[in-house]
Amino acid sequence: MNVVILGSPGVGKGTYANFLSEKYNTPRISTGDLFREAIRDETELGKKIKDYVSRGDLVPDEITIELVKERLERDDCKNGFFLDGFPRTVVQAEALEKFKKIDKVLNFVASDRVVLSRLGGRRTCRECGAIYHIKEIPPKVEGICDFCGGKLYQRSDETPQAIKNRLKVYREKTKPVLDYFRKRGLLVDIDAKYPFEEIDKVIFQCEKHLQGWV
Ligand code: ADP
Ligand code: ZN
Repeated sequence: MNVVILGSPGVGKGTYANFLSEKYNTPRISTGDLFREAIRDETELGKKIKDYVSRGDLVPDEITIELVKERLERDDCKNGFFLDGFPRTVVQAEALEKFKKIDKVLNFVASDRVVLSRLGGRRTCRECGAIYHIKEIPPKVEGICDFCGGKLYQRSDETPQAIKNRLKVYREKTKPVLDYFRKRGLLVDIDAKYPFEEIDKVIFQCEKHLQGWV
């Protein structure tokens, strides 16, 4: 099954997508992770996109679409994927449907208050991209990734200014993507207000919509 994961920055999409990815043994493809890796490794792509990402602006559609197309063509996505962070514009959504048939769009929803608190406390593993929260999902040892021992850091787009900008960009550019998929009957809302220790309540809602998965 080819699944798109949508939701406001900070709603917890990445955490839910990782969980679903393991449960269904299907890759999670995160454009945010792909971009951060490119920046960390100082590749050509990384140099081109660095400033957009640290400001919290969208990377231009052309670059993003090409990257995702190439990634989804690889063998591991043959039987399905969880696409996290793409599409974020209607142009990207139209492009995606030209190269992949989308079966379901999960739209994670939480109040502004929840979203802001999740964004402020997030820590990310520099090595493997695992996501923590200083209060809601603390690592076993402060500052260190449970999975790989990598160092945790606060993303450069998590300054108050960049967070504000990401939320604005989301309202202006990504909200129309919700309507785009809703009109096609593909979109379902998932209530993500629960604290992360109650992640089962969120995953349960997803499972209902992913039934028939083989
Ligand atoms: P979040 O959902 O928490 O804002 P992501 O990790 O999904 O964070 O994305 C981080 C940044 O990567 C975005 O702010 C943007 O600069 C860039 N990015 C990710 N996905 C896209 C996309 N589909 N189109 C354009 N830019 C993107
Ligand atoms: Zn790690």
